[in-house]
Amino acid sequence: MQYLENAYINGNWYPLTGPDRFPLVNPATEECIAKVTMATESDVNQAVAAANQALPAWSNTSNKKRAEYLNAIADEMLNRYDDLIQAHVQSMGCPTSLTGAFHIDCAIEAMRYYAEMAPMIDKVEQRENNLITKQPIGVCALINPWNYPLHQLVGKLAPALATGCTVVIKPAEQTPLADQIMAQIIHKVGLPAGVFNLLFGRGHVIGPMLAEHPKVNMISFTGSTRAGIEVAKNAASSVKRVCQELGGKSAYIITEDADLEAAVRYGVEDVMGNTGQTCNALTRMLVPKSRYQEIIKIAAQVAQEQVVGDPNHESSTMGPLASAQQFNIVQDYIRIGIEEGAELLVGGTDRPEGLSKGYYVKPTIFTKVTRDMRIAREEIFGPVLCIMEYDEVENAIDIANDSEYGLSSGVYAKDQASALPIAARLDAGQCYIQGSFFSMYAPFGGVKQSGNGREWGEEAMHEYIETKAIICP
Ligand code: NAD
Repeated sequence: MQYLENAYINGNWYPLTGPDRFPLVNPATEECIAKVTMATESDVNQAVAAANQALPAWSNTSNKKRAEYLNAIADEMLNRYDDLIQAHVQSMGCPTSLTGAFHIDCAIEAMRYYAEMAPMIDKVEQRENNLITKQPIGVCALINPWNYPLHQLVGKLAPALATGCTVVIKPAEQTPLADQIMAQIIHKVGLPAGVFNLLFGRGHVIGPMLAEHPKVNMISFTGSTRAGIEVAKNAASSVKRVCQELGGKSAYIITEDADLEAAVRYGVEDVMGNTGQTCNALTRMLVPKSRYQEIIKIAAQVAQEQVVGDPNHESSTMGPLASAQQFNIVQDYIRIGIEEGAELLVGGTDRPEGLSKGYYVKPTIFTKVTRDMRIAREEIFGPVLCIMEYDEVENAIDIANDSEYGLSSGVYAKDQASALPIAARLDAGQCYIQGSFFSMYAPFGGVKQSGNGREWGEEAMHEYIETKAIICP
């Protein structure tokens, strides 16, 4: 049993003294592997004070020096690669063989990518007689969910450090291990005290404290739309910038003339990856009625190829869901889908064969899903794909856009040229065409209730930058 009893504040391990201990459960074994002490208000105040104290020196450190720190962090992440893998396997059940590709590699590269971007803050634009300059926004609170613990952290931390901001980080309750390793890495590379501060804590307890805090200049939140709305409300009284990366129910249109084998395989694998716990998963597959039978045959085949099992087995492609809570949510939605009249093509509520322990669920595909059903409208956050039929592409675009979410979308058409005009009409922050994958060079974020602001790409830097105009005579 591990005990995580220290926050990392002002360059030191800082003992948390509150009475609340969060039990960390390995979702594959259902065993408690650690107890995590949850921060209190005075811990939050200490962390915010340290970040404020460090800000003037860090924001005046040269961009070259800041880039050196980011690269040193990336080097040390590489040294701690196996530990980072284990942190994900133990706390969220990701298969060991896939964890590097899913969770770690891109995070390391991202540190280097934002190191290269550090000079952006010093660029001055001359516009007529005015100088348009930039400055770091200041102290940033970074709050993250449990489904991509390291990836989400780095997506915020790297641009924040590159611009000269200081940070207070709060990971999800269930996944503090990767963040803890990152604090050790930061300590080892000697980042100046107070630039990086880490607290463990309950979202509904310390989240509002961070959002309301008058000495926090910006809050970057990733998580559910419900909590994202709370954060924005709590942040309003101090008029801080709020970046919200929230939920999704993304549509994926396959056209009649697409390569069906490739298109359907891509769509099913996209939803099953990370056991369906991916905010931008293409969970509504819109298929032409004319090719429905061929499509569902391929979809069933791909789902049945998934190997659900022990994350430590080489052959496993899907581990358990990350928590008992998520297991119950997903089971409920599968039941709801059946009650609503959708047809189960594969999967269902029973546990996968031979897996009586652990939060494992079957890869599940519903067909005959209609747009009014809850399973078509609400985020399930598990390996559950909804197949919906359409007559004409126009009708598919209408179904795709009929959602309160707008995080991502996808199109697989005959070729790129035919996919692009459809992509242009989808109301979402991203569109993946012809089987493409996440790219950290592209801005990521949602429209409608999927959020405000953009992470990744160059756009992530702007979240942490204030523009200042110097008006010259
Ligand atoms: P969640 O909203 O319950 O929790 C996310 C984080 O917010 C956790 O750290 C939690 O402790 C904290 N939190 C909870 N209540 C809070 C409050 N009132 N104030 C401040 N912080 C609070 O979400 P989750 O279940 O951990 O994560 C799954 C959700 O995250 C899904 O909806 C998923 O789509 C979304 N997500 C979005 C993105 C994206 O980039 N758009 C990426 C990953 C996950």
